[in-house]
Amino acid sequence: MTQAAAMRGLGFLEEELWRLDDEGRRIRLRILESAQEPVSTIDGRRVINLTSNNYLALTTHPKVKAAAKDAIDRYGVGTAAVRTIIGTMDIHQELEERLARFKGTEAAVVFQSGFSTNVALCQSLMTSEQDLLISDALNHASIIDGARLAKSARQIYPHKDMKALQAILETPESRHARRRMIVTDGVFSMDGDIAPLPEIVALAERYDAIVMVDDAHASGVLGKNGRGTPDHFGLTDRVQVQIGTLSKAFAAIGGYVASTKTLREYLISTARPFLFSSSHPPSVTATCLAVLDILENDPQRLAALWENTRMFKEGLKKAGFNTGVSETPITPVIVGDGAKAKQLSEMLFEEGVFALSIGFPTVAKGQERLRTIVTAGHTKSDLETALAKFQKAGKALGIV
Ligand SMILES: *Cc1c(COP(=O)(O)O)cnc(C)c1O
Repeated sequence: MTQAAAMRGLGFLEEELWRLDDEGRRIRLRILESAQEPVSTIDGRRVINLTSNNYLALTTHPKVKAAAKDAIDRYGVGTAAVRTIIGTMDIHQELEERLARFKGTEAAVVFQSGFSTNVALCQSLMTSEQDLLISDALNHASIIDGARLAKSARQIYPHKDMKALQAILETPESRHARRRMIVTDGVFSMDGDIAPLPEIVALAERYDAIVMVDDAHASGVLGKNGRGTPDHFGLTDRVQVQIGTLSKAFAAIGGYVASTKTLREYLISTARPFLFSSSHPPSVTATCLAVLDILENDPQRLAALWENTRMFKEGLKKAGFNTGVSETPITPVIVGDGAKAKQLSEMLFEEGVFALSIGFPTVAKGQERLRTIVTAGHTKSDLETALAKFQKAGKALGIV
């Protein structure tokens, strides 16, 4: 058979793509032609970049880059092994000790990504049909997939609805469960709102459930030095499982769980992404160690992130935009119409501002929006310019 003939077996994908086009779900990749920076080159244009998760603007920090380069010189570019074979270097171990100290827990384990961390935890902790995983409706896709891979039953409560959570905990299914685990994002990635952790922890204690918080968008952002939502609420000792990513504010790639020594030992022997996927290149690990140094010693960056957040949010509100319920640097600009949100994004791009539009099904119909994230690296003038462009485009489209 010729290759062309063989490939006809994949012909059904043409139709699938047409369907995605029809539903407005086909994704076109934008190409970043510079570093990930507050002002970046995207598809040939210099734009104020309001779309990355580079909260502390550490992707290009000289100390972080130097640490990554030094690690390559000392350890080479990769480990060529999974952690459990011979892929654990001394710096992998050091990073886990440092992350545990940072998060205020006994121990930590690093995984390849935040995604695989959530999958690992759900799968390794919820191992029987007698277990129950309870999840917020707006939790991240990796928690949803983790729950699908878990052997346990699962229940979803409407976003942040504590009455509904309590009702689930009171069902016979829950009362008879061997283990119950409540899983929540610490900061929700589409709306930028914070989980009601004090209420969740109180319910968990009352009904004897474990709490797992995914602080992908809170690590490096909320709490003292960016320790996350449990620290923000003073609940570090009452949240059993803290998840963080190394892919957002930490500017590298990876995820981790911070918890007890026992959980660490258990995951090392049972977590499938840990056992069957190779470990981080040393440059990634060195990047994260350098980021921890900065988080612990340079609180000014975190202060700048929040100052920029306040200024940008206020500016958008003053201009008349609907910014929803955000409490963090993630600020949605809710347009309420998919086509209009796309138009606003395109118009802003032409004007030198990049903010991605997000439509159904990622957000509910009527909630179509632009999602903006400011960083510590944006200057006042960047944000003033962006606000002026938002106002101009918003007026042109009749949004404000
Ligand atoms: C981004 C994100 C993840 C995935 O993290 P990666 O390190 O990019 O795989 C997991 N959970 C939440 C809530 C996220 O926002």
